[in-house]
Amino acid sequence: MNEKTFTIEAKRLGIVLGDSQLQLFTKYYQFLVQENEKYNLTSITDESEVYEKHFLDCIALIHATDFSHKRVVDLGSGAGFPLIPLKILDPTIDATALDATAKKTFFVDQLAQELDLKDVHTITGRAEDYKGEPFDVVLARGIAPLNVLLELACNLVKPKGFLAIMKGTNYRQEITDAASAINTLGYKITKVQEVKLPESGLVHFNMTFQKIHPHNSKYPRSYAKIKSKPL
Ligand code: SAH
Repeated sequence: MNEKTFTIEAKRLGIVLGDSQLQLFTKYYQFLVQENEKYNLTSITDESEVYEKHFLDCIALIHATDFSHKRVVDLGSGAGFPLIPLKILDPTIDATALDATAKKTFFVDQLAQELDLKDVHTITGRAEDYKGEPFDVVLARGIAPLNVLLELACNLVKPKGFLAIMKGTNYRQEITDAASAINTLGYKITKVQEVKLPESGLVHFNMTFQKIHPHNSKYPRSYAKIKSKPL
């Protein structure tokens, strides 16, 4: 996928990309492959694949909820996905990349400088240990099975706030398996949107959850417990 087909496919998703945004994606690609040579950030480095499987895939999440002027955290942001593509689309987002690995948050700090993006913050740490001010929106792609992810995220999202997460074709089974987590932690599914990537044929399901009830303060448990005895 080149810049032209990226623009066309974005339009099919209802997203109109301006020249300055396209330039930011070019810079993002260049900086990603440059830094990826120093340390491993992504296994996808082919330009065409980065545009499709990272950039297009991530911007499709823009319809999951209202991002305008929201405080948004990306749980396990890695090389900035999906947070930074969404920030490029909507500069009013107050963006925080949270990752357990310092080299990943360091990369996002450098990237924000390189792209001259304002209001991009990073936190190096584990989601389930977060004790700060909760966020309006929590993003996540490629982190954990849904029942685990919902517990990892429960202190990150504020009351009535949203989770906008990306899942694979197994999402129905994941919802079934997460019935108890959804109930116990006070979430409600508000939206599911299918996204098919045009060249690879990969399919993702973008899911939106709202935090409608508070949860017992014993959650989230330690990561070892969340994993060994998931809700
Ligand atoms: N979201 C990115 C990266 C996925 S890889 C993408 O879609 O490309 C998973 C990332 O999540 C890794 O960088 C890992 O360090 C981080 N991670 C996994 N569990 C985490 C947790 N509980 N808290 C914070 N970061 C976590």
